[in-house]
Amino acid sequence: MVLLVTGGAGFIGSNFILYQLKNHPNDRVICVDKLTYAGNLNNLETAFKNQNFRFYRADICDKNAVDEVFIKEKPDVVVNFAAETHVDRSISDSSVFLNTNIIGTQILLDSCLKHNTLRFHQISTDEVYGDLPIENYDLKFREDMLLKPSSPYSASKASADLLALSYFKTYGLNVSITRCSNNYGAFQFPEKLIPLTILNALENKAVPVYGDGKNVRDWVYVEDHCRAVDFVIRSGAVGKIYNIGGNSEKNNIEVVSRILEIMGKPLSLIEFAADRAGHDRRYAVDYSRINKELLWSASISFDDGLQETVKWYMDNIAWLKSAIKNKVQTK
Ligand code: NAD
Repeated sequence: MVLLVTGGAGFIGSNFILYQLKNHPNDRVICVDKLTYAGNLNNLETAFKNQNFRFYRADICDKNAVDEVFIKEKPDVVVNFAAETHVDRSISDSSVFLNTNIIGTQILLDSCLKHNTLRFHQISTDEVYGDLPIENYDLKFREDMLLKPSSPYSASKASADLLALSYFKTYGLNVSITRCSNNYGAFQFPEKLIPLTILNALENKAVPVYGDGKNVRDWVYVEDHCRAVDFVIRSGAVGKIYNIGGNSEKNNIEVVSRILEIMGKPLSLIEFAADRAGHDRRYAVDYSRINKELLWSASISFDDGLQETVKWYMDNIAWLKSAIKNKVQTK
């Protein structure tokens, strides 16, 4: 199989590429990435040593560049991780989010049609469902729920999902979608909660927490997410959405406090900041569909995954510094 992975120099995409090369040694993996501030070729150091891997620096919104890659590599399956992903940035300026996350997806879908690609898989997010009340723990996101995105980021992801499903219905393109909750693990850009907390704590700087810190997220270790996507692209139904959740709901204060505890740092580093506009209170994912149909469930507990993650960042301070340098240069 030839797998084309877009956004493969980012956090989850790079983990997915490494997962594929390790677990499917006979497949070829092609990465297309624009290398925005969030893309980092250091994430793919191991992949570059593998003869089944090839990298193209290209923008998924550039139709001709995408077409060239399809002609050269003839992918069987396209997995679209490429996206602008930071909610705060989408609140400051949504234009690049609409471009990459919607138009970029449309260009990939059209290329799949044009080149008779066997399957297109869209990496989506549980944020398309909006949020849930903190008080009602029985209520979780299901695939058939109404889409109620809160931010320009999640609205752009919801749009891409609808577009992808329309290509299934109108053109018969084999499309599938996964909607995962919050990921954590190696290679995440340090603007997101977990790596930012680790970075600031390492430097004994204040650790910012939005609002009252009671917002709840359902955390999934990145390798579990990669395994779920692998199951879906190889055995999942087409025209279908699969939720992916970790059964691991934690509020932000719990997450940050546990990181500080693992690192041996004082809780006094926590500093409450003004809340994000439209901040979703709670995400929780019902993943019974993927569990029943494909026998997937998360294999790594939050505490084990978090300890691994903290250790990884502490062992890879050079990576953290290279990621920040990248950000400064592209600002
Ligand atoms: P990321 O920001 O770490 O990486 C995004 C990657 O996409 C970067 O390598 C970037 O260079 C690339 N990219 C951006 N614009 C591009 C363009 N126009 N053309 C080509 N490449 C481009 O993101 P991530 O956290 O790895 O998220 C990957 C996907 O997973 C996204 O679609 C996101 O919506 C989804 N997702 C993320 C999470 C999470 O917790 N991080 C949870 C659920 C779903």
